[in-house]
Amino acid sequence: MSVKEQVNNRRTFAIISHPDAGKTTMTEKLLLFGNIIREAGTVKGKKSGKFATSDWMEIEKKRGISVTSSVMSFPYKDYYVNILDTPGHEDFSEDTYRTLTAVDSVVMIIDSTKGVEPQTIKLFKVCRMRGIPIFTFINKLDREGKDPLELLAEIEDVLGIESYPMNWPVGMGKRFEGIIDRFNNQFVRFLGDEKEEITPLEQLDKAGNPTIESVFDELELLDEAGNEFSEERVMKGELTPVFFGSALANFGIRTFFDTFIRFASPPKPRKTDDGLVSPDSETFTGYIFKIQANMNPAHRDRIAFLRICSGKFTRGMNVRLTRTNKTMNLNQTQQFLASSRETVDEAYAGDIIGLYDPNMYQIGDTITAGKEDIHYRELPQFPPEMFRKVRVKNVMKSKQFKKGIEQLVQEGAIQLFKQESNDDTILGAVGQLQFEVFEYRMKAEYNVDIEFTHLGDRIPRWLAEPPKDLRLFDSRSLLVKDRYDRYAVLFENDFTLRYFKDKNKDVELIDLFEAN
Ligand code: GDP
Repeated sequence: MSVKEQVNNRRTFAIISHPDAGKTTMTEKLLLFGNIIREAGTVKGKKSGKFATSDWMEIEKKRGISVTSSVMSFPYKDYYVNILDTPGHEDFSEDTYRTLTAVDSVVMIIDSTKGVEPQTIKLFKVCRMRGIPIFTFINKLDREGKDPLELLAEIEDVLGIESYPMNWPVGMGKRFEGIIDRFNNQFVRFLGDEKEEITPLEQLDKAGNPTIESVFDELELLDEAGNEFSEERVMKGELTPVFFGSALANFGIRTFFDTFIRFASPPKPRKTDDGLVSPDSETFTGYIFKIQANMNPAHRDRIAFLRICSGKFTRGMNVRLTRTNKTMNLNQTQQFLASSRETVDEAYAGDIIGLYDPNMYQIGDTITAGKEDIHYRELPQFPPEMFRKVRVKNVMKSKQFKKGIEQLVQEGAIQLFKQESNDDTILGAVGQLQFEVFEYRMKAEYNVDIEFTHLGDRIPRWLAEPPKDLRLFDSRSLLVKDRYDRYAVLFENDFTLRYFKDKNKDVELIDLFEAN
């Protein structure tokens, strides 16, 4: 197969959701389709204990976070599927956001009993920013949930994306009978026990079944007043196809996945400093979106996750890290099958490979087999939400403290700010875990004990221009500088932000989610 054909078969995506919406359950079902696992319940070490976590960082062990499932790859029909895990529970961090830069489409799972939840909104914003296709799966139809029309309205209002229901539920909870598959014109009856029965719509006997009759009324309404399906708009991330079903009951998953895989985006051209690079270009290129430190504490080695953006990778090839202009031989590489890490000999644009990292790579680094110096522009700065002041407990260790912060910040483990009024060091993170990892690594790698002062959740806004009047700021609207010396304000809450905006209409505030 040519590079072009290989690339066009790639489907690289992530599943985003709020904790407990059903991401793990869905992932397991998809892996079953790929014949990767034989029984459900094996994805998360946390739940089944089947994956030994002994190799991983101590802090992860304590928390029971599994990283074995960072990437799961398998062939399915004519496609080659890569599912990237987006850590979402206590392990939510900037890595979660960065992972979303490495995928070409996203599946958003919504719990029908809860609707659109906070973490879904955050992850959605990152996908939105990238303009990638978003497919919605409304889960747990076997339970009594919100009204389907209400759920669609919520998606449209809260997330600001238009929706197109690909199927429509008939009843829910105990009265759940199945779904009308609008797209394939069939009724899929829910029989329980992972079984379903398919009837073409024209053969469906509606008479005498009031639930089905009322569903057809709803469908008529959708046909008349709802959005039209447009593949082009799906591709641009303007319209989300919506599927209803139950991951646990394995109902509606197969039809969902088959439709998803067909419409999901293959790898697209990616932005560099000098324009776009096509995925089927002959030259192998990629960028590093995540570094997993200390996968084996005995060796202190790290694995750098590389998203291949163009061309074909072959093991042992010579490539160049454009930041340092260093050439190296890619011999120690891994690909991630669901249950084991395996050496990879060949991979194509869209795939993720793990590079053995002797402390050489940084997040955002570009690697190329070509002669030209290219730099991918895939990793913007994401706005942190949690802030803490940090200081060293023992002033004698100030030097190591400084060095540790510098390196961990450069690595992308956490974001650094300085309070303008007193030069205090402030750390910003997207998730709680980042502070814990920071504290742990400062101690383990730099032998420094630190002390945090909580500043709580804050809303950061960058200033388009340096402030003219420092009196505008106080502890509720804290003026800081980021590590690039750009001014930002950490607002205590939505209210202080709005108040500030009202009072200072001439001060231009930048939301990084919108600016990227
Ligand atoms: P995650 O946190 O998003 O990975 O969610 P999980 O897949 O771990 O699911 C959270 C809980 O919801 C588990 O107890 C699942 O068994 C349950 N669950 C997942 N899908 C369904 C579903 O379709 N119906 C019902 N009733 N429960 C479900």
